[in-house]
Amino acid sequence: MTGAAPGATVGTTPDRIVVVGGGLATARLCSTLRRKKYVGHLTVVSGESHAPYDRPPLSKAVLAGKRDDTALPFDAAKLEVDLRLGVRATGVDVDQRVVRTDAGDLPFDGLAIATGATPVRLPGNGPQVTLRTLEDALALRSALMPGARIVLIGASWIGAEVATAALAAGCRVTCLELGPTPFHNALGDEIGGMTRSWWSDVELRTSTAVRSVEPDGVHLADGEIVPADLVVTGIGVRPDVAWLAGSGIPVERGILTDDRCRTDVAGVVALGDAAQRWSAHTGTHRLAEHWDEAGTAATAAAAALLDWHAGPAHDPVPYFWSDLFGRSLQYVGAHRSDDATSIVRSSDGSPRRVVWSRGGILTAWLGVDAQKELVKARTSVGGPVPEFD
Ligand SMILES: Cc1cc2nc3c(=O)[nH]c(=O)nc-3n(C[C@H](O)[C@H](O)[C@H](O)COP(=O)(O)OP(=O)(O)OC[C@H]3O[C@@H](n4cnc5c(N)ncnc54)[C@H](O)[C@@H]3O)c2cc1C
Repeated sequence: MTGAAPGATVGTTPDRIVVVGGGLATARLCSTLRRKKYVGHLTVVSGESHAPYDRPPLSKAVLAGKRDDTALPFDAAKLEVDLRLGVRATGVDVDQRVVRTDAGDLPFDGLAIATGATPVRLPGNGPQVTLRTLEDALALRSALMPGARIVLIGASWIGAEVATAALAAGCRVTCLELGPTPFHNALGDEIGGMTRSWWSDVELRTSTAVRSVEPDGVHLADGEIVPADLVVTGIGVRPDVAWLAGSGIPVERGILTDDRCRTDVAGVVALGDAAQRWSAHTGTHRLAEHWDEAGTAATAAAAALLDWHAGPAHDPVPYFWSDLFGRSLQYVGAHRSDDATSIVRSSDGSPRRVVWSRGGILTAWLGVDAQKELVKARTSVGGPVPEFD
């Protein structure tokens, strides 16, 4: 499937829309549907016990003790949403047009899948935690005691944000990273290597392979055991799509959709971290795994549910941010490893701005504490590299 419309057809506005998921994509989709005057039945099935809440603050304000709750604007009564919390979808019968759940079947005319993603865990039965839910964040926060030995696995966004909170709480922090530099997957080795100064209060060990997390510590591939009171694994997420096995809804890593969030099955859309959406920008099906995508895709997904054959394409310039080590980082676009780079460094040698380009065309921009450049960068991706400063 590419940007082309799926073959099957749906003629009318659905009477019953079921949304599976309980995060940002679900909250935005429900409010968008009602704003677009959808008056049919709207049912949300969420495996969590809370109404939809926001995840970025979990690793920032919640871990820092500044917030205990990150509820999203979502008033089920006002939106006339039949909100089924603590219910997990277990399958979809696309012929019968029924969602199977652990609390019974739910018939649908339109179905939106926004089941997000699940953190990857390492083998072993040691004290290993991941950070995805409010419960995860509150439990982790209570373990960040002065002097506690916290071992982070993965020197990327989650690892850096947890390190920030753990250091502020007075913990001793070690970070084990498989790659040669922090952020090597997201930013590449050259730029990632320049961020080492950010980790100066962390015992950062790169090119370090972890075999398992055991009760006596983290077991490395070379046989060393790194002792830990708590291990936080932040090595990425996998779209939560295993429950769709055998449904006929095409899944690669995420649920394959076109640029209107439509799957190959008429009347079934997917959005947010669970979706792998066609992007004309990159000519690929992309997993976004970022807040901006989960929120903005709701417009196209709602339009497709209400009219399968008309509506806007959704292919925004990718955007994400992270708050780490007292810095605010923002990234727009999508670079390739062979793009040209132009780097401006801060006084400590770390990157302040990185511009990636190909043939004079801006492909991506990274700014550190450079919010005032964000709009220019965002609107310039895909065009000639502009002047910054
Ligand atoms: C700690 C943390 C910090 C982050 N920080 C940033 C950041 O700084 N910047 C940024 O751009 N992005 C950040 N993100 C990513 C961003 O939060 C996600 O991209 C966004 O939450 C995705 O929203 P979603 O609605 O697609 O999925 P989710 O928010 O994951 O919601 C999916 C929901 O579906 C439910 N579910 C799953 N399977 C089933 C099932 N079978 N049946 C019923 N319900 C099910 C889940 O329980 C969950 O409630 C962060 C994520 C985390 C976890």
